[in-house]
Amino acid sequence: MRKCPYCKIEVGGDLVKCPICQSKLMGEAEEPYFPKQTQQQRRSLYYKVQLFVVWVLVIAGLSADFLFHITIPPYPDLHWSLLLTMWLVAFEFGIMRQFKPGTGSARKVTWMVFITLIMLVITSYFLGFLPFTVYWIVPIVLIGNIITNFVLAMIDKKGNTMSYLLTNLFVGVIPYIFLYFFGKGMKLAWIICMILSVILFIGAVIFKGRMVLNEIQRRFNV
Ligand SMILES: [Zn+2]
Repeated sequence: MRKCPYCKIEVGGDLVKCPICQSKLMGEAEEPYFPKQTQQQRRSLYYKVQLFVVWVLVIAGLSADFLFHITIPPYPDLHWSLLLTMWLVAFEFGIMRQFKPGTGSARKVTWMVFITLIMLVITSYFLGFLPFTVYWIVPIVLIGNIITNFVLAMIDKKGNTMSYLLTNLFVGVIPYIFLYFFGKGMKLAWIICMILSVILFIGAVIFKGRMVLNEIQRRFNV
């Protein structure tokens, strides 16, 4: 055990300096008390590098567009750098933030899908393929999301089924709203999406209903 010659205290572990007076400790070091946090440091370095790259791209894009007036040939009037900035900012603050540990994976997947779809709708509006996005891409991606959530719910062993059901319900509600407003022009992909969300919701309740009940009791102490 190390000793501080000034404070006359013994300090365990492998500390180099006295925690009270910051003088150098004397004597032999012991096994460190805390494990080295290299993984955390590496993750934080990756995060900083990608954050830096994102901001470089944003600034380079805005300058090329507004200062050098570089345009994309089919869209001479489009300020493409604003779309690029929107994607990068959403990527940074919506998608990268989802990689923090803690929340269930169904919620993360759904959140990422949503951010991407909203931006895709905005982008396709400016690039002129909005109908294709709204009638085909969005419902097909939502179908994929619903199936992914269902599979995640079936293989989940930690008792986090409620979030899967809630996200599936959430994704399932959107087709209903769509049906309500665009009823007659409803496209096939949206109808499939809606039917599938109902079927898989029922499936999850049948197969995982008991787990959901347990989870509600656990979370709300009822
Ligand atoms: Zn000391």
